[in-house]
Amino acid sequence: MAVPRNRHSNARKNKRRSHLAKTSKNTQVCSNCNKETLPHRVCGACGHYAGKSVVWAKGAE
Ligand SMILES: [Zn+2]
Repeated sequence: MAVPRNRHSNARKNKRRSHLAKTSKNTQVCSNCNKETLPHRVCGACGHYAGKSVVWAKGAE
């Protein structure tokens, strides 16, 4: 394995890590049950996608 020759300063390390921050997830509201869901995903609460029931989930009638 390659071994680093020189120590990198804390400033250099911190500059490298300036791009690593996590961003908040973008969420939408389910049109069937009004719960928060991820876009382009089946709703985890009611199993609906694009206005149709596609998965039988707990709490669905
Ligand atoms: Zn839903």
